[in-house]
Amino acid sequence: MALSTNKDKSQLTFGIIADIQYADHNDGPDFSNTKTRYYRSSLKLARNAIEKWKSMEDPVAFVIQLGDLIDRHSTFQNNGSDEAFLMVMEILNNLKAPIFHVIVAVDAYELSVLGYDDKSNDDNFRTGQQLLQQNNPNKDWNDTSGLEGLNKRWAAYNGGVSEKQLEWMSETLQAAQENEENVIIITHVPLLSKDGICLTWNYEEILHTISKYNCVVGVFSGHDHSGWDVVDENGIQHITFQGVIETSPDGNAFATAHLMDESLVIDGVGRVPSFVIPLRYCIKTTVESTQLWNTTSLLH
Ligand SMILES: [Zn+2]
Repeated sequence: MALSTNKDKSQLTFGIIADIQYADHNDGPDFSNTKTRYYRSSLKLARNAIEKWKSMEDPVAFVIQLGDLIDRHSTFQNNGSDEAFLMVMEILNNLKAPIFHVIVAVDAYELSVLGYDDKSNDDNFRTGQQLLQQNNPNKDWNDTSGLEGLNKRWAAYNGGVSEKQLEWMSETLQAAQENEENVIIITHVPLLSKDGICLTWNYEEILHTISKYNCVVGVFSGHDHSGWDVVDENGIQHITFQGVIETSPDGNAFATAHLMDESLVIDGVGRVPSFVIPLRYCIKTTVESTQLWNTTSLLH
């Protein structure tokens, strides 16, 4: 008789979805005029994800929503962006499990020129302006013409993390390492990118801080709707999740993560590929999911 073992059992299962970006707006091109954005059908695709998670035998303990829940076009719909926001939330709340939202603009990256409308004297806003002045010669800071390679990141729609956020990250990673906890960093804007268009301004500084610790297994982001993935020189799996907004109405874009004893298995659905990410520390015993997600560090 075979001994029963937990080896093939997920210790914790959670969902991941990026850039739903709903608006009551006709389909249209992205900024580069090369891809289509399906503003209305993103609601249906979000519903597909929730239905799948609800139907699973192994229920998801929570969902990570990687940012950009609604699109700026929603401000022009009948009752404005509040209505769009409530429509998406109504679908997500159907799951009846916690949803961790990456809130974009000020909360997501403190160094930013977005989201400071009523606080234009804020030091981080001013630093953001200075950085763009130094690095982007165009009149419109969303225009990256003339910038080459990774310098294309110097756009207003990206942002950076402040010294304070970096210090917090250092302390959090130090504590995680001492406790032998595996860490996934969650951020809207990627820390590595194929072309620099969607990349955190001070990504080098952040990666340098991360490289001082052994506990980080992955960096999960959204923002670049095409998606991308790479394992960096420290063996950390970076995944930029494909955005719902640029997924055709008959497709899907979400993933379910299963924490196994020695790996984190990402089961991609539709445009999202699948991954097996080795853990730094084996999961030795069955742990309560609440304990686990408390130790999952949310960078932004
Ligand atoms: Zn974004």
